[in-house]
Amino acid sequence: MSEMSPVEELRAAAKVLLCAHRYPVQVLTDAEVEQLNATGRPLADCLECGSREDGQDVAAPLRGPLAAWLEEAAEDLAPATRAASDLARFGEEFAPVDLCNEPGSVRCALTFARLILGGRS
Ligand SMILES: [Zn+2]
Repeated sequence: MSEMSPVEELRAAAKVLLCAHRYPVQVLTDAEVEQLNATGRPLADCLECGSREDGQDVAAPLRGPLAAWLEEAAEDLAPATRAASDLARFGEEFAPVDLCNEPGSVRCALTFARLILGGRS
């Protein structure tokens, strides 16, 4: 794939995750069959999303970064929860997430956390 902007990278990754993948029909050489058996990776780009990455297998490599992001969101939300509780004593009502440094990211992380925990987003 050519050079992508960050916005394009986000959209391309989302597309790979959701793509059902359709590969061109190929006549494989013996070497290609061997490569396919050894790697399990397709030998051509998907006709739909242009990637050879299988979004279905993304869970394992994502665990570390996803866990780090969830921890980061927790680090943002914990003091915000204390601040909201302090403000409530003065009669001011705030949702803790609204007091976070990155409320959008924390909301998104909570959605992921609840899905991982088996609840609904
Ligand atoms: Zn695809």
